[in-house]
Amino acid sequence: MSQRRLIYLDNNSTTPCDPRVVDAMVPYFYDKFGNAASRSHHFGWEAEDAVDYSREQIAKLLNVEDKEVIFTSGATESNNLAIKGVFEMYAKKGNHIITAETEHKAVLDTCKHLEKAGAEVTYLKVQEDGLVNLADLEAAIKPSTILVSLMWANNETGVIQPMADIAKICEKHGILFHSDATQAVGKIPTHPRETGVHLMSFTAHKMYGPKGVGALYVSRKNPRVKVTAQMDGGGHERGMRSGTLNVPGIVGFGKAAELARLEMHQDAERLGKLRDRLQASLCQLEETKVNGNENSRMPHVSNISFKHVEGEGLMMTFNQNIAVSSGSACTSASLEPSYVLVSMGLGDDLAHSSIRFSLGRFTTDEEVDMAVKLVTDGVNHMRELSPIWEMYKDGVDLTKIEWAAH
Ligand SMILES: *Cc1c(COP(=O)(O)O)cnc(C)c1O
Repeated sequence: MSQRRLIYLDNNSTTPCDPRVVDAMVPYFYDKFGNAASRSHHFGWEAEDAVDYSREQIAKLLNVEDKEVIFTSGATESNNLAIKGVFEMYAKKGNHIITAETEHKAVLDTCKHLEKAGAEVTYLKVQEDGLVNLADLEAAIKPSTILVSLMWANNETGVIQPMADIAKICEKHGILFHSDATQAVGKIPTHPRETGVHLMSFTAHKMYGPKGVGALYVSRKNPRVKVTAQMDGGGHERGMRSGTLNVPGIVGFGKAAELARLEMHQDAERLGKLRDRLQASLCQLEETKVNGNENSRMPHVSNISFKHVEGEGLMMTFNQNIAVSSGSACTSASLEPSYVLVSMGLGDDLAHSSIRFSLGRFTTDEEVDMAVKLVTDGVNHMRELSPIWEMYKDGVDLTKIEWAAH
């Protein structure tokens, strides 16, 4: 009872598996271990039936046809398959791709890779609130544009892009629209067909399913989209993704999708209130800034900058009790400020002072209250120790100071 529980507010990195998901998976490690591609005996049929059922659950969540769901190993692979697959399949049509600076690395690095293979890529800047400017998007389109790839919701800020408006622009110009919807699927309604999204990536482990399994939605009609396979082999998944299916993982993914369809609205409503409470409490601290458009944002996410407090240092003050992410991405040698926040126009200092809080299905009221207290204490503590905060309080204009060395 007295065991200390680490408060997990990093659900955008990964979510715990729902116990109901694990329960659904277990038989597929034991007696139902068949290969879904074995067409000649009971073990294979049993596995295939389970995969079919999961595909149906996922299709129901998205309001699409079963056959439009292609299983992969996760959203990284889905993004690679969508972007490289379209680039190769539609090479005759053009070589220009439009994306944004705030996309996940799985999209950005895929585009970088394709630039070496002859692609031309436009990386749109975003507005201060994290939203893509639709006029910028339309202005970037040229006759050689074959694909627009823009995420549904951002992993660092939770900002939701105007998907239907983007889709309209793509439709008008006859361009395919891919979306990395990893952070949105299972949390808010994501219906690619109604929205006008032709390819959509997502993954089980961000929606209370297991790691190592994801999917790519590929529209089969109006338009019928094809992607070149990135993995050669047995021709599984309608030839788009070879490899023996991860049956237990897919079963868990299907269960997670079923639960999401039934429970997302109540989860979102509860978490929205909890997030608002967390944010309002923390914003009582002086000099705080919420990053990202507050009217177009995932209900469980809040990214807050605490001015003059270094995020990684702040995390050290409560690291033993709360798991969150800071706006400093740990790269090989140095702590780089988050490129997402920098793209939104935050200075390095504000980006470094940001913390992402992402709540989840298993977050409780008590945990949020405890987190508020720990973060508040941590910020106050850091500021008490900070000469910069003292100068700020003394009314020194910090922007006018010339520091001796950098
Ligand atoms: C987590 C994440 C990914 C990567 O998903 P994996 O399944 O871990 O490969 C891609 N895009 C976004 C927006 C994410 O949040």
